[in-house]
Amino acid sequence: MPEDYSLTAESRKLQRWTLEEARSLYERPFNDHLFHAHTLHRANFDPNRVQLSKLLNIKTGGCPEDCGYCSQSIHHLSGVKASKLMTPEQAVEEARNAKESGATRYCMGAAWRSPKPRDEATIVAMVKGVKALGLETCMTLGMLSPEQAQTFADAGLDYYNHNIDTSERFYPEVATTRTFKERLETLAYVREAGMKVCSGGILGLGESEDDRIDMLVTLANLPTPPESVPINMLIPMKGSKLADAAPIDPIAFVRIVALARVLMPRSHVRLTAGRSSMSDEMQALCFYAGANSIFIGDTLLTAANPGDDRDSSLLHRLGLTAETA
Ligand code: SAM
Ligand code: SF4
Repeated sequence: MPEDYSLTAESRKLQRWTLEEARSLYERPFNDHLFHAHTLHRANFDPNRVQLSKLLNIKTGGCPEDCGYCSQSIHHLSGVKASKLMTPEQAVEEARNAKESGATRYCMGAAWRSPKPRDEATIVAMVKGVKALGLETCMTLGMLSPEQAQTFADAGLDYYNHNIDTSERFYPEVATTRTFKERLETLAYVREAGMKVCSGGILGLGESEDDRIDMLVTLANLPTPPESVPINMLIPMKGSKLADAAPIDPIAFVRIVALARVLMPRSHVRLTAGRSSMSDEMQALCFYAGANSIFIGDTLLTAANPGDDRDSSLLHRLGLTAETA
């Protein structure tokens, strides 16, 4: 076991991480970094279990925000056709299929800046309908007011996803129609309303390694770290600002997954967007590094996902089985 890389006395006392501490963990020899992350992973989870979620776009396209990576923004000519908000019946029907394919959590996303008051009753009906199937429920609808967070929590919403996506420093390069501070405010409202938090980010936006590390330090330093931390690899979307972004070094990506595990040892780390272009070996390294959640199915919100056949073959070959609810 490498020297004790655990929290320093200072961090242990405050459970706070500094960028310097996190960077020194990130930069250590790859085998030491992954061995430490895997050791922490085993101490907190069954290392051979993966939580399966399914993501559904309940309202596609036409979003007024200008997130540089997103195919659903009206600022990008991505060709994604906008759709109206689904009915609760449609969402529940899709959730039923997801449960049959092994999902324990159903995540519903809408291409909004924030839900409008007229949408809230439909969202509440979707939460109740999906919950009645015995699935954990998650919504990702953009920014929320404290009242909206409470409304959805009272309806029984289990998780709310709201990714901070990158560091506070780099955030203005990613989106200009809202601020990093507004993202953190929604996370606080979600937490105050009593829901679990799902928040992570994207690698490959043109950010520095320090930005990636700082994003994880921000999440780990929240009063309560997110229960679920999605790590996305940018999928360059046609017509978006980042359509020609350079691919990220796979080793750097795995190092970030391992750092997420070390800084947030009790959170689920979700290997999220980009898996379709990851090799099986890269995914296997991410699971060893502590990733223990994926989205199943052929598509995410608008982008491709490996699909059930490729995923079940990979999980089988790795001896990984699905977490049960
Ligand atoms: N509209 C909601 C919002 O922005 O909060 C939710 C939509 S979706 C869940 C948003 C997340 O998916 C982004 O925060 C980003 O982390 C991820 N994402 C979207 N487009 C992506 C892309 N092209 N490549 C990788 N990740 C992407
Ligand atoms: Fe809109 Fe969300 Fe896409 Fe940003 S990521 S443009 S908020 S749908």
